[in-house]
Amino acid sequence: MRTTTTRCLHRPVAVAGLEVIACAACGTVEWHGAVRALDPVEGMAALFGRFLLVGRLPAVRAPGSEVLMYRAPRRKERANLNAFPANVWLQVDTSLWLSHDGEHLLLVPTTPLLMENLTT
Ligand SMILES: [Zn+2]
Repeated sequence: MRTTTTRCLHRPVAVAGLEVIACAACGTVEWHGAVRALDPVEGMAALFGRFLLVGRLPAVRAPGSEVLMYRAPRRKERANLNAFPANVWLQVDTSLWLSHDGEHLLLVPTTPLLMENLTT
């Protein structure tokens, strides 16, 4: 968990049966289910488990070396992106960063193991 700032706005947003807190100021992401907090793996699976890997880009303004680009299987799932501020890198957990451009989900794994898991 990173340090909050005076610009922080930790407001829960309801999406796909969950509540997500995603703060552009400090990069924090939190996930809450109906009865308990979810870990990042559960939260990511619930919102983006059916997204399709469509490209790999060099990371220019991103925290890792390579950006994985995903698209939603349907318009309905694409709306899940709107729970997060666009064009900002958010830290999902110690080894994964997330962003989006309104159309594509962008993930940057910062460990070789997670990169391998997401791409094979
Ligand atoms: Zn914050």
